[in-house]
Amino acid sequence: MDAYELVAKAQRITVLTGAGISTESGIPDFRGPQGLWTQHPAAMAIFDIDSYLADPEVRMQAWKQRLITQPWTVEPNDGHRALVELERQHRLRAIVTQNIDGLHQKAGSSPELVHELHGTALNVVCMSCDRRLPMAELLPRLEAGEDDPPCEVCGGILKSATVSFGQSLDPAVMDRAVDAARECDLFIAIGTSLQVHPAASLCDVAQGLGARLLIINAEPTPYDAAADALAHDPIGQILPALVTQP
Ligand code: NAD
Repeated sequence: MDAYELVAKAQRITVLTGAGISTESGIPDFRGPQGLWTQHPAAMAIFDIDSYLADPEVRMQAWKQRLITQPWTVEPNDGHRALVELERQHRLRAIVTQNIDGLHQKAGSSPELVHELHGTALNVVCMSCDRRLPMAELLPRLEAGEDDPPCEVCGGILKSATVSFGQSLDPAVMDRAVDAARECDLFIAIGTSLQVHPAASLCDVAQGLGARLLIINAEPTPYDAAADALAHDPIGQILPALVTQP
């Protein structure tokens, strides 16, 4: 079966999205040819929790990078919108996303169907007192020149509410993601290099219970050999075509 047949026959689809679905909106991925780590390997330190907590210089770089990328100002693309269409067709079980950019919800996907495995860059959390606040509240302080703004309540270290290397995933979100992988007849991995676990292992969970596996990614992934079909086309083109085929 090819990708078109798989999608046409599926009634209950869970998708796992990665940074690749947002590159056409202008947010670089990590490991693709133009990816942040491919171009600037040293940037990995800002995604490591021990480096972030120990080194003010790393935190300054992280906030600087956040101001450059500004995911909250970016618009969704046809790939995100195709998943809204799939929901409208009542065939979408869930979107499990590794992305932190909020673009699925901004495109119109129902928030209760979107499970953000790696958190969100649209919120900020205090590493000492756990206070959460919208990024929009912190933004004026960053723009005014604070390069490592402390928590205004307890003076603790602030960090975007994303999951860095060395931090655990929220178990409740992971449980919902596993349920969605178990309860689908087609699992589609979209724009992810499938190198980060446990997210990538959701492919095994779905296939283990009989779901088909489709991978849509420009570059090869470790799961290609196990997949029922592969598509290497740009996501913003192939996904709408797959979802709206007659
Ligand atoms: P990754 O960078 O490891 O892999 C992205 C993959 O997408 C690459 O293999 C690339 O070839 C493919 N790709 C890029 N653009 C594509 C397109 N237009 N069409 C088809 N394929 C395309 O990303 P990952 O697997 O998501 O893992 C990286 C981690 O980085 C995630 O945990 C995520 O939290 C974080 N991240 C998030 C964002 C975001 O929120 N937009 C951006 C960068 C990184």
